[in-house]
Amino acid sequence: MAVIIGDTCINCAACIDECPVEAIVDEDDNPTGEELYYVYPDKCVECVDHHDEPACATACPTEGCITWDVKFAGDDKEHFNGGNYIDGLDYVMNDADAEMPFRDDISNEDRLARKNVVD
Ligand code: SF4
Ligand code: SF4
Repeated sequence: MAVIIGDTCINCAACIDECPVEAIVDEDDNPTGEELYYVYPDKCVECVDHHDEPACATACPTEGCITWDVKFAGDDKEHFNGGNYIDGLDYVMNDADAEMPFRDDISNEDRLARKNVVD
């Protein structure tokens, strides 16, 4: 990841078709079992080479719902092995070995603080 959908998600579907890499699934397919949309961290490319900013967050009507998370690359991927998702849930991914593009202008400090993608 990249970006994370928080528990203020209202399941409105505005984001899902905006994703250029089909990284988002709806509440029925959320692998954590939460009634929220979910971004697969090993699929999200932070919209690098697709849009100027994450298209999901631009489309989302719920302020603060989509926030930055740790990049899915290099040693930082260890973050995804713990219970760091919402309410202590584990992340679910298909390819833990993937190395995904990320925006290097977003600091790790802001990522760990889960700063809003769109202010
Ligand atoms: S940031 Fe871009 S690639 Fe990642 S989930 Fe959102 S729309 Fe998809
Ligand atoms: S646009 Fe925002 S509120 Fe709507 S489903 Fe996506 S993350 Fe949830």
